[in-house]
Amino acid sequence: MTEMKAVFFDRDGTLNPDPGYLRDPKLLSLYPGVLEGLSVLKGAGFKFFVVTNQSGVGRGLIQLAELEKIHFRLQALLEPSGTQIIDFGICPHLPQDQCTCRKPRPKLVLDLIEKWKISPRYSYFVGDKDVDILAGRNAGLKSVCLVRTGHGTQTEAMASGPKADFVGDGLLDIAHWIVSEDSQDS
Ligand SMILES: [Zn+2]
Repeated sequence: MTEMKAVFFDRDGTLNPDPGYLRDPKLLSLYPGVLEGLSVLKGAGFKFFVVTNQSGVGRGLIQLAELEKIHFRLQALLEPSGTQIIDFGICPHLPQDQCTCRKPRPKLVLDLIEKWKISPRYSYFVGDKDVDILAGRNAGLKSVCLVRTGHGTQTEAMASGPKADFVGDGLLDIAHWIVSEDSQDS
């Protein structure tokens, strides 16, 4: 198979706790299960991407150069799993900017799909908010997963919100579910 299969992750509330407009790379930490989950997914041949709304940039609270330092630190924290994030899709705009890239819009995902020749029908989105579920759906990915970290428990409880295909306590649960779904494709 030449086409890449991918898992797109939201960042804050999904890979790492969100202290609110994270600026200091030293404050970045991973949720339990992230390293183990990524190892499991790597074993099944998945590549990893992050798609994140960072309105702190548009608000002037963080510079893009600082964001790069945070992502450099994220890659370092991921090293024990033997995996890296291949690319980051970042929306720096404010909600009121009416940009074309802010989740729930699928543009950042679609751009990564095109750039990296990713096969959407074998790929997944994982996040903690409605906008993550919707971004994955709008991009036509195979499935979307909600994680009960960050805002995930609140998102799950909202009766009127979009429904995920799977809800897990952490990334390890979700990784096992994705691998099980993926094994039915091959
Ligand atoms: Zn944007």
